Amino acid sequence: MSEMVTAQVNEEPRIGVFICHCGLNIAGTLDITQLVEYAKTLPNVVYVKENRYTCADPGQNEIKKGILEHKLNRAIVAACSPRMHEPTFRKCVQEVGLNPFLFEMANIREFCSWCHPSKKADATEKAKEIIKMAVAKSRLLKPLDTFEVSVTNKAMVIGGGIAGINSALDMANMGFKVYLVERDESIGGRMAQLDKTFPTLDCSICIEGPKMVEVARNKNIEIISFAEVTNVDGYVGNFKVRIHKKPRYVIQKNCTGCGECMDACPVEYPNKWEMNLGTRKAVSVPFPQAVPLVYTIDMDHCIECYKCVDACGARQAIDMEQKPEDIEVEVGTITVATGYDMYDPSDDPRYGYGKFANVITALEAERLINAAGPTGGHVIRASDGKTPRRVAFIQCVGSRDVNKYEYCTGFCCMYAIKEAILIKEHEPETEIYILYIDMRTPFKGFEDFYRRARDLGITFIRGKPSEIVEDSNSQNLTIRTVDADLNAPIEVDADLVILCNAAIPSAGTDDLSRILHVTRGSDGFFLESHAKLKPIDTPVDGIFLAGACQGPKDIPYSVCQGSGTAGRAATILSKQKWEIEPIVAIVDPAKCRNTKAKCGVCVTACPYTAPSAPEGKPAVINPAKCHGCGTCVAECPSDAITQMHFTDEQILSQVRNALEVNPEKKIIGFLCNWCSYAGADLAGTSRFEYPPTIRAIRVMCSGRVDRDFVLEALRLGAGMVLVGACHLPNDCHYISGNWKMKTRIEALQGMLQKLGMSPERLRIAYVSAAEGLIFSNLIKEMTRQMEDLGQDKIKAENTKLRPVITNMLARKGLIPSAQAQAPVPTDSPATK
Ligand code: FAD
Repeated sequence: MSEMVTAQVNEEPRIGVFICHCGLNIAGTLDITQLVEYAKTLPNVVYVKENRYTCADPGQNEIKKGILEHKLNRAIVAACSPRMHEPTFRKCVQEVGLNPFLFEMANIREFCSWCHPSKKADATEKAKEIIKMAVAKSRLLKPLDTFEVSVTNKAMVIGGGIAGINSALDMANMGFKVYLVERDESIGGRMAQLDKTFPTLDCSICIEGPKMVEVARNKNIEIISFAEVTNVDGYVGNFKVRIHKKPRYVIQKNCTGCGECMDACPVEYPNKWEMNLGTRKAVSVPFPQAVPLVYTIDMDHCIECYKCVDACGARQAIDMEQKPEDIEVEVGTITVATGYDMYDPSDDPRYGYGKFANVITALEAERLINAAGPTGGHVIRASDGKTPRRVAFIQCVGSRDVNKYEYCTGFCCMYAIKEAILIKEHEPETEIYILYIDMRTPFKGFEDFYRRARDLGITFIRGKPSEIVEDSNSQNLTIRTVDADLNAPIEVDADLVILCNAAIPSAGTDDLSRILHVTRGSDGFFLESHAKLKPIDTPVDGIFLAGACQGPKDIPYSVCQGSGTAGRAATILSKQKWEIEPIVAIVDPAKCRNTKAKCGVCVTACPYTAPSAPEGKPAVINPAKCHGCGTCVAECPSDAITQMHFTDEQILSQVRNALEVNPEKKIIGFLCNWCSYAGADLAGTSRFEYPPTIRAIRVMCSGRVDRDFVLEALRLGAGMVLVGACHLPNDCHYISGNWKMKTRIEALQGMLQKLGMSPERLRIAYVSAAEGLIFSNLIKEMTRQMEDLGQDKIKAENTKLRPVITNMLARKGLIPSAQAQAPVPTDSPATK
């Protein structure tokens, strides 16, 4: 134990409460004067101070001054979500000698002022209770020492597009070893497929190719191509990553990339990299600039004539018996840069894609325009090989569509303009139309580029097509639409139609999200930790996001994020040791059942193999392996395990303080930090208003929600209880905590219903970090249900439940047995 912890462990709490106005974000709704006066009445609170912006320098100085001048040994900031500024304030209090785990936050912004703006008086009452709950927990806080773990100073980048390439190069150039895992045969990603890039019209492969070569030549980078990550274990600084390498049937170290095998190969099949517009040989590379320049045999097309073996000769690079290989590497950080895929519009009959030969996608057009592409740079029609005289682009195919993908793909406006300009430059006589909903040209040089297209005579029509029809003789096309500016139906005739289809999460994103425990947003792309302050971090320490895997992005933005993640990863990789929060579980050996009988429930509950329970001995938990979910704590049959910083006493004290007044009008919500708490935060940030009925308690994982917490809430008369978790089956940040909670709480639901409780009063809800609206609607619905049940019924049910519950809790020593008979308080002078 450090000196600081030893010194602060047994002191009588002296709590300081710092209430933030956050400009008008909080003070515009809540009555701060009332909050200050109220906080002064709370037990052990010796100092209360309001600040305009507590996170700003003067605000933080006020906290430090308060701690020193008033000898505070606990500090509470009533402000924004702890998910936002808890680390800031922990650092602040630490600077004046207070243990950071003696700091607590009361979330009165996202959980109060922002979500109840039209109910100012009720919101102020709710904020008082949020502060009261924070004080209750603060009184029971214990100083804790952080753990230090050693850091493996190596990095992994998953995905070798332009974002991953930049991330890998920057880290390698800082001196770190980098494993770059690429699923395809070559790195390069989509950028390698493009012809020129907007708005400067640089040749795409000419600017990306040298970077790809630099990756191959960099001694610090090991490219693991034609491979995928199948498992990740461990934690920040110490990830163990399992990678599955597919067989190329060519021995990489023997292959010189000469291409003689390909020349000898008699088999050709459509080349996916060329959008199936060109062909490749059964032994080949997808494109000439591939990196690594190693050939691959596609066994689905190989006829085993062995001509390649003969052509390869003494180099002996062909190995028809090659097997898949699984390898494991250890790294300190992981950057995900897995990019995007394109929506296949053949499922939308309006566009005729896949049915009409002369309707193609924009990526297909890129390959046609490209001089190194299958047609040598000539844009021709598939139906007759002729150069089209009239070309029409259709924007937002699949994107900005509530029935498909609601988001804007972002780069389509610009690439449509680019392809139009390129076609016009090749064939100046071509008539070009771009049918759009809104033109979006917000970044450097984009508006000039748009103007250039208009100056070239490209026609922009605001209108979304209702259908495309084909003339069966000429195979020319007619687009039927409404010109929104003329407010009149029009028809546009075209020889070729190019669809600007939505970018969607790349295939396998859901698997990778499960493997990495990194959640995805409602759009299916990976979700960042905080949209503004941590846009390239994930909630998992040491895992970062770069490029279009987090949402559609153009090349410059992807490059920035690639470099950004390198910088973020370097903050970890550059250290020998990394501090881990001590929010781990510890076993009280005196209480552990395993000493008397074979138990091991904690061992089964933990997905990280942190506990061990040797026969006849108390279980022990390895803190370096413990991820701090608290599932074992809730599962332990003899209550022998404690989760530091989220102890039973601390959580129960929050429950009790929340329910001192009008309990039957309240919802006690246990919300898991990573999904449902974050979803509730988002409801606030998005200003989705809902009734001020919920009193939320943060737990790291829903797996931590002990039956006793629910029982105590009901004993005290709670109207409703909500357990908020990450979505099943795979979204739990701690792998299986939500499943354990589900089993436990569903069993409790059954028992309570048998005892006469209405089923809707104990609810499990799965809410992701991206589902602010869903959270808000959930609280509206639960409040409505609570009102429909009516206070009399709730009170009557509670009266029936109370003796049974009280006995259960008293038996466990969670409440004094005398309370079994004592009436439950329904009022508190403090909040009146
Ligand atoms: P990607 O390029 O998609 O690369 C991701 C890489 O990750 C790929 O190599 C992929 O194989 C790999 N991968 C995926 N999953 C896994 C996995 N599980 N394991 C390992 N590897 C994996 N932007 C511009 O700025 N200018 C332009 O002119 C332009 N034109 C465009 C034209 C079209 C038609 C389209 C569709 C897009 C255009 N863009 C343009 C956008 C550009 O393509 C993206 O900005 C860029 O490709 C994003 O790079 P990235 O590295 O994030 O993703």
